[in-house]
Amino acid sequence: MSAPSETFLGFPAFPEAAHDAVRDRELRRTMRHATHTIRDKRARAVAELADWDELRTAGAQLKERTLRHLPHYLEQLEEAVTRAGGTVHWAADAAEANRIVAELVRETGEQEVVKVKSMATQEIGLNEALAAEDITAYETDLAELIVQLGRDRPSHILVPAIHRDRRQIQEIFRERMADWGRTAPENLTDDPVQLAEAARLHLREKFLNARVAVSGANFMIAETGTMVVVESEGNGRMCLTLPDTLITVAGIEKVVPTWRDLEVFLQTLPRSSTAERMNPYTSTWTGTTDGDGPRAFHLVLLDNGRTDTLADQVGRQALRCIRCSACLNVCPVYERTGGHAYGSVYPGPIGAVLTPQLHGIQSEVGASLPYASSLCGACYDVCPVAIDIPEVLVHLRERIAEQGGKGHRLEKAAVNAAGWVLNHPRALEVGERLASLTRRLQPKRLPGPGAAQWTRSRDLPELPARSFRAWWKENR
Ligand code: SF4
Repeated sequence: MSAPSETFLGFPAFPEAAHDAVRDRELRRTMRHATHTIRDKRARAVAELADWDELRTAGAQLKERTLRHLPHYLEQLEEAVTRAGGTVHWAADAAEANRIVAELVRETGEQEVVKVKSMATQEIGLNEALAAEDITAYETDLAELIVQLGRDRPSHILVPAIHRDRRQIQEIFRERMADWGRTAPENLTDDPVQLAEAARLHLREKFLNARVAVSGANFMIAETGTMVVVESEGNGRMCLTLPDTLITVAGIEKVVPTWRDLEVFLQTLPRSSTAERMNPYTSTWTGTTDGDGPRAFHLVLLDNGRTDTLADQVGRQALRCIRCSACLNVCPVYERTGGHAYGSVYPGPIGAVLTPQLHGIQSEVGASLPYASSLCGACYDVCPVAIDIPEVLVHLRERIAEQGGKGHRLEKAAVNAAGWVLNHPRALEVGERLASLTRRLQPKRLPGPGAAQWTRSRDLPELPARSFRAWWKENR
């Protein structure tokens, strides 16, 4: 079993990473089986609701309206959280968020935290930042635990260890569990029930000893300052209720105005993600309460590129995302490459539009992701908040083309040359005649590395012996 790097730092651009991934037959088999199983279940769960389209529209409009008035709802949220006994911290970027969390943990005198599965904390690399401060973060979601013990990276939003089969998980538990706490049972097999039991015993010790927990939030309700976490295992709830101090790190786009708005998302999210009618564990908390739950609550509101994304009229719709992962499960590209090829904690179609916007299109990875799509539109069809991902992809490609780069300079020169010829009918006619006369001499494949790849699996269309223009002259 390989022990790859635990972060996406220094990861290659998508084409290079995908090139290796698609050659891994076992990965492709695992991914195909997993994504098809989830997508079929989702389709059945969604088909049960006669008003699915209305719910989808309502979800999109609720998010859109909230984003338009984001400063107002964030201020309302801050007031409500403070009123309820919590403390709100604002973090402009990953470094600031990590620094705030590390300081809060240090103030408690603890050197260990338990974590609820959270995309925001992965996005900012919180575990690594805490490790640099001698604070150990224990992941408690089963799939995240597998990723952490395997010194791996997540490859799916909802099922981070989707690329692992149960035999690999058995191996990871046997080899690594002891390094992180309670050892795996000696006779552990790859039976899912045994694997789950081993994880349960291992994690139970963590929950009972932890004094500090870190979570994300699926939703934050502005009117009451309430945090909402939805999960399937109940491990999250242990983290949210047992420790003395709870620190929540959430992106600013997670705010919704009222409790009523949850009515929509708590119907669309479980069906889109796990194909369940109702989410198994929905935890909500508002500040602190005497004699019940954590004594201290801190909310770290994270920007980290979200304000810039909001400024983009087309791209901002990516901030509606409720991280259901339905778009990953239907994407033909994701199915073949798996999640690591996207070089980010946000893989698949949503990653292809979110990562370049949050982290910029200047990096190789950022500039390559909007091209990691066939633009088939399957992601848009399943998205419960109607994010038109293909529209954002094309928009980002335009921005990338505008910023230049070798490939784009050549493309631009070719389009300019074509523009000139099309604007000069005489030159076009001469060109057509020449092309027809030399058609037998023309290669079947285009030259150059990029163009050659294009014609490796496609025939170049044969030129006719006579152009339409020549035919027209003769016949009319
Ligand atoms: S973009 Fe839509 S389908 Fe994809 S994860 Fe986000 S909400 Fe789900």
